[in-house]
Order: sequence, then structure tokens, then C-alpha cells
Amino acid sequence: MRILLVEDEKRIADFIRKGLSENGYAVDVACDGEEALDWAAVAELDIIVLDVLLPGRDGLDVCRELRRRGSHVPVLMLTARDAIEDRVRGLDSGADDYLVKPFAFAELLARLRALARRERSVLGTHLRVGDLVLDTASRQVSRQGQSIALTSKEFSLLEYLLRHPNQVLTRTMIAEHVWNYDFDSSSNVIDVHVRNLRRKIDDPFAARLIHTVRGAGYLLSDRQPE
Ligand code: CA
Repeated sequence: MRILLVEDEKRIADFIRKGLSENGYAVDVACDGEEALDWAAVAELDIIVLDVLLPGRDGLDVCRELRRRGSHVPVLMLTARDAIEDRVRGLDSGADDYLVKPFAFAELLARLRALARRERSVLGTHLRVGDLVLDTASRQVSRQGQSIALTSKEFSLLEYLLRHPNQVLTRTMIAEHVWNYDFDSSSNVIDVHVRNLRRKIDDPFAARLIHTVRGAGYLLSDRQPE
């Protein structure tokens, strides 16, 4: 899941970015509204975490502009005050949810999961293909009931594959949703991560779930190719 964090206070931005990265999110940071709109125009974002108090255009204005441009990316607004009119203005500007600062990090993570569910119409926190199950809340992965330990990046990669089953995903698509802007697309990092993931979720089991589509990318499916 790729997140754009829009926050001008560096200390807070660093804290949130670090926490989200540790939880497997790919995070880019914009420091003001204009930069946020530039990112939204060019990047494949899954969620925007948008602070209301920004220099220049405020978060409400940025959110209205995003919607005016036809963007449906889920927006989680960070507000400074828990006043009803602030929340109403946030939601009316086109935000999907809001969180009052200061917040518990666990709540931010829970709200991001809820937004991701809404967007993909996934019910509950379990993503499943065949006998492979990933729980986005507890961050547990299992196959045939056996628990599988993954690194944070492997987990993010698998989550992306599980959100798009039976679909060919190119390396570019994977890079755009699992890595942030600093990703070096000339490297073979994705192939290395896929190989490691296969070693854990496919090699010990009879049926393969991750398939290579020659010249195109990867596909997660429990239907075996003919
Ligand atoms: Ca701010």
C-alpha cells in the first residue's frame, strides 16, 4: 500500500513516516498542498494522509481540489481540534475519514486498514487466495493453517498480490504500490523479493500460487495454468 503523507511539520512527518514504513507501507512525504497535488497527479497512491494545517493551501482546500480533478483516492484528514465544525468541514471537503491530533499510532493504522477495505470492497481483515490467508490487522500469514513469517516488505508485496488476484501485475505496478519514490527501477529488487516470498509461501507446498508471466510480470492465483 502506497501512502502520501502531507505534513509540513518535519518532526511529526518523520515520526509518522517511520511508523508507517515499519508497518510495511510505502510512504512519500509532501510538505505543502501544491506538492501534494503534484504527487497526486503523477503517482499511483492508495491513500492520502492529509494534515489540515499547512502553509499556503490548507488541507481542506487540497482535498476539494483533488475531488474537483476527479481523484477518488481515499483521504484521511488529520485535524488539530476535535470540534464538530472542523470534522464536518473535513468530511464535506471530500475526505473519507479524519483523525484528531495527537492520536495513538494504532488508531492511525486501524483507520488506514478500514479505508483500504472500503476502497477494495474487501470484507473483514482477511485476504485469501486458495489456502493462503493474510490478516491485515494482526499481520499474520498462513497457508494450510501453518503460520509463515515474512519480512515487512514481503508482507507488503504479498498483500498487493492478494488484493489483485488472477491479474497480471507488472514490475512497474508492483513498484508503484509497494515501494516509494526512492525506488530504483533499474534494480532487480522486485524479482529478489518475489523469489524470497516464493520460498516461503510456495516451495513447502504442492500447488504454486505465484506465477511468472513471461515478459509481463507476476500473477497470484490458485488456478493452475494449462
Ligand atoms: Ca501541519
